[in-house]
Amino acid sequence: MSDLPKVWLAHSYTLNKNFLPDFKQEEFERKLEKVKIFSAYIDKHVDFILEKIVHYTGLAWQSKEIPVYILFDHEKRSIAFPLIIAWKGYPEDRLLVLTHELIHIILRDSQDNIFKQNNPMTPLNNKESEAVIWLIVKQVFTDLDQARKTKFTDEYDRFSQFDEAQKEFFKLVNDFSAKWDIKQKPLKEWLQTL
Ligand SMILES: [Zn+2]
Repeated sequence: MSDLPKVWLAHSYTLNKNFLPDFKQEEFERKLEKVKIFSAYIDKHVDFILEKIVHYTGLAWQSKEIPVYILFDHEKRSIAFPLIIAWKGYPEDRLLVLTHELIHIILRDSQDNIFKQNNPMTPLNNKESEAVIWLIVKQVFTDLDQARKTKFTDEYDRFSQFDEAQKEFFKLVNDFSAKWDIKQKPLKEWLQTL
């Protein structure tokens, strides 16, 4: 088993203020209260999630620490570099988004490291990596639900419905799921067969 990074919730009022000029310190404190359940989910489940990500990607964590910043601007998107979770919805779906971004991190770190040799990630373009990430997220949460009697896959299903633009994307997800048996081969091995 590879070493797992420490994933922790970082607080930055200034980060929020940069996006939301009217943002007040008191409002920040108040909103942080709402993040407590999310923080508890991270503490409770993140090692399980990190291990499953290793298992299904076949990659190892390169980072020792991954701070997670919260941005209270629901119109913005979450990003992996640096890891910023835009706060919207509720703690359960934010855990899903966090897992998604963590997979981006392990993929990118491995790309950097493997770049000089044969980079097994190159067969995937951006859209394709997004699709593969969705499959891994689903499997990780299926495992989590089974092992810990949680109900996070409900969130995944809620995310996977939707509008025309996303229909196209989930078609790609389904295509990949037909070709890649995630339980048989980690992502890295599967990509080497393409
Ligand atoms: Zn993504």
